[in-house]
Amino acid sequence: MTNLSPRARLATALLRTAATLSRVSGRGDGSVIGGRVGLKVEPRLLALLSENRQVALISGTNGKTTTTRFTAAALSALGPVATNSFGANMPTGHTTALAKAPEASNAILEVDEHYLAQLLVEARPRVVALLNLSRDQLDRAMEVGMLAEKWRTALTAHPDIHVIANADDPMVTWAAQAVPRVTWVAGGQRWQEDSWACPECGKRLDRYGEYWRCTNCGLTRPSPQWSVDGDQVVDPTGQRATLSLQLPGQVNRNNAATALAIAAEFGVPLTEAVPQLSKVRSVAGRYAVVRRDGRRARLLLAKNPAGWLEAFDMLDPGCPVTLCLNAREVDGYDTSWIYDVDFSPVLGRQVLVTGDRRFDLAVRLQVNGIDFTVVDNFAAALRTAPEGNVEVIANYTAFQDIRSEFDRVN
Ligand SMILES: [Zn+2]
Repeated sequence: MTNLSPRARLATALLRTAATLSRVSGRGDGSVIGGRVGLKVEPRLLALLSENRQVALISGTNGKTTTTRFTAAALSALGPVATNSFGANMPTGHTTALAKAPEASNAILEVDEHYLAQLLVEARPRVVALLNLSRDQLDRAMEVGMLAEKWRTALTAHPDIHVIANADDPMVTWAAQAVPRVTWVAGGQRWQEDSWACPECGKRLDRYGEYWRCTNCGLTRPSPQWSVDGDQVVDPTGQRATLSLQLPGQVNRNNAATALAIAAEFGVPLTEAVPQLSKVRSVAGRYAVVRRDGRRARLLLAKNPAGWLEAFDMLDPGCPVTLCLNAREVDGYDTSWIYDVDFSPVLGRQVLVTGDRRFDLAVRLQVNGIDFTVVDNFAAALRTAPEGNVEVIANYTAFQDIRSEFDRVN
């Protein structure tokens, strides 16, 4: 930071002022507006602020915010870390994250899948972690295959980057193979509907348990250096460490394994990194608990089909569950994807259904043979559930609505 040009320094100062003003006026944390101002004044600001730092980027459809939090926690052992911890995962957010932590020699940045190519050029990362690729909000996302191709092309131009990639995801594997040095991580892939065709040749992939292979061109699941075995992580030397995470589910153990692989690349030993992960409680309100009238509701965010399957895996056995579905702009207006999700994991529980599109969800559950009760809103769902624990799975705007109404008062 000390050798920034006068223009870059001015841009940084204005960025901070704009972010602060936005924050005090109650419009979010100011990351986006701050970055926008800074980049207006100095378009190369992201690149300039990335200089002389060790940068790791984390991208994928699901889990990037949590993995970023885990990684930043693990790296805190080495000193301050620049990170976009509020999930502002586009270049404006990255610029702000770097500007706010001038003293941090390490930066861990969550990157929206569509911006990875740009970040490879501007942030010049040492490490890039690729988590998974599945369809997101249907009516705005690029095809999964096109995104994998975009990643692969971008990585081909940066062969010196060390990629840490999910061996269970064929799309990610294919993209990651563009660079010579890849560390493979495996924890299992629940959602496989977006990767049944080989990304290389388009023929069908064969799967045997966790193993997958293309029968035509031979693209094969790489053997992982890092893996998850129950609640343990196994590193490339075979050393095991038990995870005691506060975040639920197999998917978060997988996210932890990726974070540990990144931390190892930055020189943090497994035994030092693991205890740091246990300190992460909730990520941007996800897994937060709201209490009202004797009910204790845990909030799980599920933005897309893969996310719903992961959320089912986190449910406490026997606990009532409230499913909240909206279809506003950021959710995607088309809810037909709910027919691609198997809701049978909620069978046998009390199921409450709410959100703007509760009737779409009700029809889907009916088809799936699941008993449910439709209620008008989340407050009514809480009143309907018995006292005690309630699990809540909500998509993006439904989740935000619940948080703005309930999470603030707790
Ligand atoms: Zn193939």
